[in-house]
Amino acid sequence: MIIGSHVNFGSKQLLGSAEMAVSFGANTFMFYTGAPQNTVRKDIDETLTKKAKEYMEHHGIDINNVICHAPYIINLANKEKEDSWNFSISFLKNEINRITQMGINYIVVHPGNALKLDRMEALHNIAEAINNIITPETKPMILLETMAGKGSECGINMYELKEILDNIDLKDKVGICLDTCHLNDSGIDISKFDEYLKEFDNYIGLEKVKCVHVNDSKNVMGSHKDRHANLGYGTIGFDNLINVIYNPKLKDVPKILETPWIGEYPPYKLEIDMIKNKKFNPNLEQELMDLYK
Ligand code: FE
Ligand code: FE
Ligand code: ZN
Repeated sequence: MIIGSHVNFGSKQLLGSAEMAVSFGANTFMFYTGAPQNTVRKDIDETLTKKAKEYMEHHGIDINNVICHAPYIINLANKEKEDSWNFSISFLKNEINRITQMGINYIVVHPGNALKLDRMEALHNIAEAINNIITPETKPMILLETMAGKGSECGINMYELKEILDNIDLKDKVGICLDTCHLNDSGIDISKFDEYLKEFDNYIGLEKVKCVHVNDSKNVMGSHKDRHANLGYGTIGFDNLINVIYNPKLKDVPKILETPWIGEYPPYKLEIDMIKNKKFNPNLEQELMDLYK
């Protein structure tokens, strides 16, 4: 099983991320190269990257399974706001250069918000933007994330994702990241995840799935809200999430937790323990306080 969580990328960059992942008992991780809410980014430090790679090798983290996530605020869907569309494209090009320098294979991107635009037009804008970003020389793959359908989000079902993928020129360089909270909130019943995968396989192809975000949801199926909950503390439930994580069809796909911190503490060590034991922990908050006090 390839399991990890969202981790920080602070002053120690990839080395700090890898150390945090190891402290959670993870064998992979996902990071933002800076704050998720802004696009201020520092140059990549070669020395720290080299140290991070040695550290990962020593601690059983295969860099091929490590994921980067692009910031939320870029928007590839609305070309009418030309400055912001162009900025999003150039930011993603630079971000891909930064992660290429570190040897990271995947970057998860939220497809974008249509705003007042016709949805079909928005989907085509996303594909056009990606066609501007990737070249035959691009090494990392862009992973379009399945979205909850909050506001005017695009990519909220497999038909929209396929519409984007069909309009990509370099199809080998674009894949999909499934997010269980987003799927639930978009109206997918995670207790029937096998049926979803079957449909996805027929329609898009399971080989496109390169990452799974494992989150419970604070809201009911179809709520279009996107608020993550800790494993077993939401409406999806622990057993359904375990079935996703241990699904044999997704065996080689990295699973990433983006569940909320409890107070000041990251829950990931205890949630990864729950996953490894396949046993729900009803005392998560208390045990977390004990762990970090
Ligand atoms: Fe995301
Ligand atoms: Fe996600
Ligand atoms: Zn989310």
